[in-house]
Amino acid sequence: MIELINRILKIFLPPRCIKCGAILSDDDGLCPECFNQLNFITAPYCYKCGHPFEEVVNKKSQKLLCGRCSKKQKTPFRLNRSALIYDDISKDLILALKFMDKTENAKTLAKWLCMAGYDIWQEGADILVPVPLHYKRLIKRRYNQSALLAKELSKLTGIEVDYTSLIKHKSTKPQVQFSGHERVKNVRGAFSVKQAEKIKGKSVVLIDDVMTTGSTLKECAKALKAAGAKSVDTLTVARVI
Ligand SMILES: [Zn+2]
Ligand SMILES: [Zn+2]
Repeated sequence: MIELINRILKIFLPPRCIKCGAILSDDDGLCPECFNQLNFITAPYCYKCGHPFEEVVNKKSQKLLCGRCSKKQKTPFRLNRSALIYDDISKDLILALKFMDKTENAKTLAKWLCMAGYDIWQEGADILVPVPLHYKRLIKRRYNQSALLAKELSKLTGIEVDYTSLIKHKSTKPQVQFSGHERVKNVRGAFSVKQAEKIKGKSVVLIDDVMTTGSTLKECAKALKAAGAKSVDTLTVARVI
């Protein structure tokens, strides 16, 4: 019955490209033209921070590390992964999900998150934690785009989402207003863990739309680590390179 309803709906409401609106024969999210414009982050990239390499340094090595990561600099993260390079195309898709109520985009973006997270799933992950919004911002926007992504990703991976343990207790100004060190200062101490017992000993995957300088994700990771998380990975739709 549900299948029949879906078939009828498809005739009247055919799936459309989430970018340009072209009618699609399958519910793939994007039409081939728009899909070809996307810049996916593909190997080779740093095994730890996920930063793409311009050329292969050593083809034999499976787990290449960038200069910064091979110096073993202190970071609260185990692995960082992103599906796309943040450019005009990925920016449009993300902004539509974030501000224009295009919540259906989350389904397609989560498919890409699932693929980009390959190494994370291999290392082992216990829970998905979306980067939280301050409650005042949540009321204004009505939904948290990262939580929508985590929900869709959970359907694909079977990994549970923890929506409530990590909270943003401090209201901050939007990060886009700042650059570099000001971003770090803006979000410092803004996140905390409410139910440490749900985080303790867990391999946590932080989910967000974009990784810019990583200061928001770092603050979240610090709070999760302080609550006893075994490891923290980050998985974002796009990343500024
Ligand atoms: Zn299109
Ligand atoms: Zn690296």
